[in-house]
Amino acid sequence: MTGTSENFDVVIVGAGISGIGAAYHLQQKLPGKRYVILENLESFGGTWHVHRYPGIRSDSDLYTFGYRFKPWTGPPIATAAEILSYLGDVIDENDIGPNIRYRHRVLDASWSSEDKAWTLRVLQVETGETSEVKAGFLWMCQGYYRHGEGYTPDWPGIEEFQGTVVHPQTWPEDLDYAGKDVVVIGSGATAATLVPAIAEECGHVTILQRSPTYFFSGPNRNETADMLRELDIPEEWVHEIARRKILHDQHAITQLSFENPDFLAGELINSVRAQLPDDFDVERHFTPRYRPWRQRLAYLPDGDLFKAISSGKASVVTDVIEGFTEKGIRLASGDELTADIVVTATGFHLSVLGDINFSVDGAPVDFAETVTYRGMMFTGVPNMVWVFGYFRASWTLRVDLVADFVCRLVSHMDELDVRCVEARVRSDGQDAAMSILEWVDPENFNPGYLTRSAHLMPRRGDKAEWQHSQDYWSEKDVLGSVDLDDGCLVFE
Ligand SMILES: Cc1cc2nc3c(=O)[nH]c(=O)nc-3n(C[C@H](O)[C@H](O)[C@H](O)COP(=O)(O)OP(=O)(O)OC[C@H]3O[C@@H](n4cnc5c(N)ncnc54)[C@H](O)[C@@H]3O)c2cc1C
Repeated sequence: MTGTSENFDVVIVGAGISGIGAAYHLQQKLPGKRYVILENLESFGGTWHVHRYPGIRSDSDLYTFGYRFKPWTGPPIATAAEILSYLGDVIDENDIGPNIRYRHRVLDASWSSEDKAWTLRVLQVETGETSEVKAGFLWMCQGYYRHGEGYTPDWPGIEEFQGTVVHPQTWPEDLDYAGKDVVVIGSGATAATLVPAIAEECGHVTILQRSPTYFFSGPNRNETADMLRELDIPEEWVHEIARRKILHDQHAITQLSFENPDFLAGELINSVRAQLPDDFDVERHFTPRYRPWRQRLAYLPDGDLFKAISSGKASVVTDVIEGFTEKGIRLASGDELTADIVVTATGFHLSVLGDINFSVDGAPVDFAETVTYRGMMFTGVPNMVWVFGYFRASWTLRVDLVADFVCRLVSHMDELDVRCVEARVRSDGQDAAMSILEWVDPENFNPGYLTRSAHLMPRRGDKAEWQHSQDYWSEKDVLGSVDLDDGCLVFE
């Protein structure tokens, strides 16, 4: 260990959209607090800095994926470059930059009840040195997946394949796909984004999926925002009104997905059918076997994926991979797909709390043994909040809500003149009979990265206080006014 130990009131881990949002709110609401953001990478943006594959873009609209406090002025679906530019503006306009330390990876976080503080062991990635940083409060904004490598299943014979295999998360800058036959394995938003972006240049691109996904599409513009701009309404208002309209419409769709899933599924599939050639097998390739919203619903601006398929430059195969051959992929149907390049758009490795080793008074923390307090804090882990956004709505909506909560919580601690807060399941009978369940109900939401790693995630209780409801529309009213003294949080 080298270097001296520094003290901060708050340490934010991660300079992605969550960490930058956290810093903004902290500066605004608690300007007296000393804080730092520790970021492993060489720049800000997290997801939007790491992913460099062709066509990389949001699948949420930026009126809701953008912050509540910073108007979005571009087209609703944004490229990674546009999102990075927006985040850069937030950093510059609020002078957040001097508080970010890049190439600083948090390795361990140890809580001491005696000091009532966290001690972080931090690797300075460039030099290999480690140093200590002390934090009164930890604001974990490290996202939910490992940035260094994507998830690729262990297919038999992959080493025999003579072509190139790439994962979108680690896309080689110099990958030459011009004129090549490319197979993209996966059916999610990444595959749907990538395929139209490379189809024109490739010889041919095939989406190979095990099962279909729901998509919806429309023009990449927001009529409400466009109309308000025509009336010279200030951008702050445009942002707020467009945001409310989108959230209103999304709420209606979410309700419909629970109340009348078959109707919604039919509408979504019919809209896909209308954008594809008459003889296209929509039943096989675009009729999912799950209820809409059990996985994220992906938006295709201008139906670009369907245009690529209709043009003949892209096609879809729905089949099961048996293994790789020298020339391509052998399928359960007996067919073989030949390829020069195989792109494995097969998802993420879930990373619970940034692969940091947590301990409390010397005892390692196993988050799978903790119960979450409102999807933000964990039983037995003091002075720490985790930002985990929404699945069915934009992640960032929760960044703002969690920030309101943290600032209120820290102010409350100051008022009480205490330095420690810990979530504890109430033993006085209120929570005594509570069932302890998985982090999410797999019947409700079950993307691969979560089901693969469900055993690593914190638990949830069957009461509102002890779960991440995944419901922005109720949380927006509830989180801001939760009773901090209802016994779930113990202040010392
Ligand atoms: C391609 C893609 C598209 C997406 N599109 C959308 C979308 O349209 N809408 C939506 O709602 N969600 C989307 N998501 C989900 C998306 O990841 C989140 O919405 C959001 O960007 C997450 O932001 P974050 O800051 O919480 O985490 P991240 O973007 O993952 O950033 C976390 C940061 O923490 C740093 N970090 C992690 N561990 C440590 C450590 N130990 N020490 C120091 N630093 C650390 C990382 O380096 C990283 O910079 C998308 C995800 C992907 C991969």
